Amino acid sequence: MRPYAVIGAGPSGLAAVRRLSEKGIEVVGFEAHSSVGGLWDIESPTSTMYETAHLISSKTTTQFDDFPMSDDVAVYPKHSELKRYFEDYAAHFDVSSKFHFNSWVERVEPLEDHWRLTYRRENELHELDVEGVIIASGTLHHPKRLDLKGDFSGERLHSSDYRYPEQFDGKRVLIVGCGNSGCDIAVDAVHRARSVDMSVRRGYYFLPKFVMGKPTDTLGGLIKLPAKIKQWVDGMLVRLISGKPSQFGLPDPDYKMYESHPVINSMFLHHIGHGDLTVRPSIDHASGNTVYFSDGTEADYDLILEATGYVLDYPFIDKAYLNWSSMAPDLYLNMFTPNSDRLFVVGMVEAAGLGWQPRDQQARIIASFIAGRRAGDESATDLWNEVKTGDYPSLNAGLNYLELERMSFYVNKQAYISALNAAEKALGDC
Ligand SMILES: Cc1cc2nc3c(=O)[nH]c(=O)nc-3n(C[C@H](O)[C@H](O)[C@H](O)COP(=O)(O)OP(=O)(O)OC[C@H]3O[C@@H](n4cnc5c(N)ncnc54)[C@H](O)[C@@H]3O)c2cc1C
Repeated sequence: MRPYAVIGAGPSGLAAVRRLSEKGIEVVGFEAHSSVGGLWDIESPTSTMYETAHLISSKTTTQFDDFPMSDDVAVYPKHSELKRYFEDYAAHFDVSSKFHFNSWVERVEPLEDHWRLTYRRENELHELDVEGVIIASGTLHHPKRLDLKGDFSGERLHSSDYRYPEQFDGKRVLIVGCGNSGCDIAVDAVHRARSVDMSVRRGYYFLPKFVMGKPTDTLGGLIKLPAKIKQWVDGMLVRLISGKPSQFGLPDPDYKMYESHPVINSMFLHHIGHGDLTVRPSIDHASGNTVYFSDGTEADYDLILEATGYVLDYPFIDKAYLNWSSMAPDLYLNMFTPNSDRLFVVGMVEAAGLGWQPRDQQARIIASFIAGRRAGDESATDLWNEVKTGDYPSLNAGLNYLELERMSFYVNKQAYISALNAAEKALGDC
């Protein structure tokens, strides 16, 4: 029997290799970098990490349940701590030995009854024929650039290229975008730059990292509420804790809590309140060093930092195989494509406080499904028949997500975990 291929040695790929191996399925991993850890390894050529980055979700919410971080790790660990965590994970579950490192997957294509993977290593192309492929190459590697009208003569940098605060030294900085990365980076910039402005187009819900001495994302799950009621209750709580964004000169959200990803940052509003950061509206155009804003104001900048997010892309495979629909593949449980029972995605999922555990559960389900298909098991056939219908259960718990790139594969955490639990139960002992 041919092996399965896993693309990527981040949390998703490590879990996939581990879970397939545990089922006795031969597996070969491919990783562009020389080591494990995914984007948490700042040395990786594909990493979009910066020197001051820490987890935005807390460690207990984020870690793999059966591989907890040690007690001496901070509640919100630094990226280097997470790299170490994944190295320990890979060693503990004997995952690294299954990977080809420094190997870029360039092409994945189906042949008659199997898949062919083409990868580049030391400038040479190699091919491997495999039974199937698990894509775990991450969702935050292809920057969405700012569509800036005019001719800005200063420096432009996407957040994916930002590495350390010294890059701001003495500069007049405009940060565009107020998501978690934009806010984190703005907090870095205020300590180094000559001035820091932020262009904010829409409203966000802001939460600090700690409430009552506890990590904020550990409080939400204490009382189980239906999604719509939780949305209302948490929206009120956020207002109580952080006030209205307009009190800080920011736009108020014109949508409900959880219809977009909230910002978790204890320092961002603090710095606005201390006059370290000036809020600007959306950009109209630029000319020379001057940026003209939609409210008629203008200011001069040396650097525009584009914290404008990422586009989802799996450049090594034809979109048709992944059942793409507008901004993201339309996959059963965000994992299974109706176009092949030997092609899967792990890690194409996001939700408030989701962490890595559901990615491990995805990997377990895929491993059981593969084992079940090989054995001709009825429950795996039933699941495959469900995948082929293209009629997938809603994973948003009735919330109306904004039509944004990053929300195109967003789920409601409780709804998603319930759906994963149901799929895993249905597969039984596969
Ligand atoms: C600054 C920042 C802060 C974040 N904070 C949090 C947080 O607090 N909580 C949270 O849950 N998530 C956070 N994330 C999201 C992060 O994406 C996930 O935590 C996690 O890393 C996703 O794991 P992954 O394995 O799916 O993808 P990745 O970690 O992106 O790993 C994918 C791997 O695939 C490899 N790869 C890609 N293409 C190829 C190819 N063609 N050939 C071979 N290898 C390839 C890459 O080199 C990489 O190693 C953050 C992200 C960033 C950038």
